[in-house]
Amino acid sequence: MMLKAENLRAGYSGDDAVRDISLEVEEGSCVALVGANGAGKSTLAKALCGQLKPRGGNVFFNGQKITGLPASEIAKRGLCLCPEGRHIFAPLTVEENLLLGAYTHLPSIGPFRRKASDDLQRIFSIFPRLGERLSQQAGSLSGGEQQMLAIARSLMGKPRFMILDEPSMGLAPILVKEVFQAIASLHASGITILLSEQFAKIALAVSDHAYIIERGSVILEGPSKSLANNPAVISAYLG
Ligand code: ATP
Repeated sequence: MMLKAENLRAGYSGDDAVRDISLEVEEGSCVALVGANGAGKSTLAKALCGQLKPRGGNVFFNGQKITGLPASEIAKRGLCLCPEGRHIFAPLTVEENLLLGAYTHLPSIGPFRRKASDDLQRIFSIFPRLGERLSQQAGSLSGGEQQMLAIARSLMGKPRFMILDEPSMGLAPILVKEVFQAIASLHASGITILLSEQFAKIALAVSDHAYIIERGSVILEGPSKSLANNPAVISAYLG
């Protein structure tokens, strides 16, 4: 297993927002975390990649225990979180945003642009629209393009595994479709994906396996195709 969580618990000041969650993500797969607002998906995503210290349980990445390691160390090992909300630098251009994403990975300024330009070419093959808008101010991109830029910027760090937290957030349905097409290309390019999403229909369509989360716990899991035909999932999430 590329990523494995065992009885993970995490939270903020009060009760645990993530309660004894165990999950597995196989290399090369796309796994979805489906749940309503407040179910605990973002908390789980942050606890997996070190942005929130787990209160209990363990996380393993490529067989090595990464529980409690700083997020920067976990990112260096190839596990990267593209967080909820787009967090792009609105006054900077598309290119500048992308180069900032490469900075931790290519800290020396001299060869920086040259090396990063290979990564840019790879990224434009997945997100051609960004390639056409390199010098456009990021804040003037459409919502869908901004989301693609946020994902593309995370890709500049060369992750092998990406956790995408709520990529559809705040997007009109037509843009959600575009962003998910880009996520499918990302997956096809060989990156393993854990996708947190409240739109069950699209999450189950794009993933191989899924976990349904309610109030901080996994209540159902299985192949996405069979969950999409499960009457309990249909009535609660697909109705
Ligand atoms: P959404 O799709 O709305 O982001 P989610 O499934 O990602 O929902 P979380 O954001 O993980 O859910 O929230 C789980 C619980 O933790 C909620 O009750 C939320 O209010 C609480 N919570 C989230 N962030 C914080 C925080 N920084 N401080 C305190 N409580 C928080």
